[in-house]
Amino acid sequence: MKPILPGAAIGVLGSGQLGRMFAIAARRMGYRVHTYSPDNDTPTGQVADVEITASYDDLDQVRDFARNVSAVTFEFENVPAATAAAAAEHSYVRPAGDVLHVTQNRLREKTFLASSGLPVTRFSAVSTLADLEAALTHQKPPCILKTAGFGYDGKGQVRIHHAWQAAEAWAAMGGATAVLESVVDFEMELSVVAARGVDGDFVHYGVVRNEHQNGILDVTIAPAGVEARIEREAIEITRTVLEKLKVVGVLCVEFFLTRGGHLLINELAPRPHNSGHFTFDACVTSQFEQQLRAVCGFPLGSTELLSPAAMANLLGDLWSTRVPNWPAACASPVVKLHLYGKLEPRPGRKMGHLTALGERAEATVREARARL
Ligand code: AMP
Repeated sequence: MKPILPGAAIGVLGSGQLGRMFAIAARRMGYRVHTYSPDNDTPTGQVADVEITASYDDLDQVRDFARNVSAVTFEFENVPAATAAAAAEHSYVRPAGDVLHVTQNRLREKTFLASSGLPVTRFSAVSTLADLEAALTHQKPPCILKTAGFGYDGKGQVRIHHAWQAAEAWAAMGGATAVLESVVDFEMELSVVAARGVDGDFVHYGVVRNEHQNGILDVTIAPAGVEARIEREAIEITRTVLEKLKVVGVLCVEFFLTRGGHLLINELAPRPHNSGHFTFDACVTSQFEQQLRAVCGFPLGSTELLSPAAMANLLGDLWSTRVPNWPAACASPVVKLHLYGKLEPRPGRKMGHLTALGERAEATVREARARL
């Protein structure tokens, strides 16, 4: 296939911060960007050439959207399968709709990973209270019951500390199919962001370390500084995932590293990931430019890390008493501020992030955020 050249329009399904940073990278290389989501004045729409506000279920609108661009990608994996299929009638969709189909449902994702011989957290499928009670007899608490579909950032999850909590936990799922996962006693959480091109070439950004607060990513440290064996294994697992799913684009694998030194996959995200935001400032090619290159059939760019880096998320909670003190956060010359243009700072909402560079990156980014 011939590459899609600068000047062409690329469509993004979804309109959040991932699409915004994609759009910034795409416009820098001379592409036009169209975004599609049910919202308006969105983080992506504010930098895109065209913002379409319509439901993902309005398949005629989706077809129109796809007709007007040279390729469609996405920044939000929970778009319905029918939406990706409608777009594919008129444009390239990268990664393909079946990658979405697998990764937007925890049960399908875990089943795919386990059947590919890849290490996953112990899990059982749960469709009824009886399934849950039966699962808890062989999968001892503590466990987490997670909805199979449409969950992110710890949403749709209930911890089960004792088997007698089954009925209450099941009620919280509201009847939706769920996955019962054993709680992993992890030493740390890691992730690998990687990309695969149209010709099957593979690049990765190494292993980074992630800290979460209340199920939401808080801080990423790059590189993770884990031993070489773990680094090799994490990258090989990631390569296998991208190859088996035939991903054209960017995909992130999130891992638990157990206290016993084993890697378990927590989940996959078939798009640029919050734990790869540091690449915007710290790598030769950001994860967003890499997504663009993959989607357009360009050669992939170098993922070289130019400096150790750390990223800290800025959630809406920071606005609870006053507007954050942005100049204070930027007092360190190696701190970069990213804000996503969201108007309403709700608690838990990702409003922006800080990236710090240098040998002291982790301490620097934490200090900068504390000054806000
Ligand atoms: P998730 O949305 O499933 O990625 O979960 C968000 C965060 O909750 C993870 O990054 C972990 O910090 C925590 N978590 C999720 N599942 C487990 C598990 N099985 N064991 C321990 N911690 C978990």
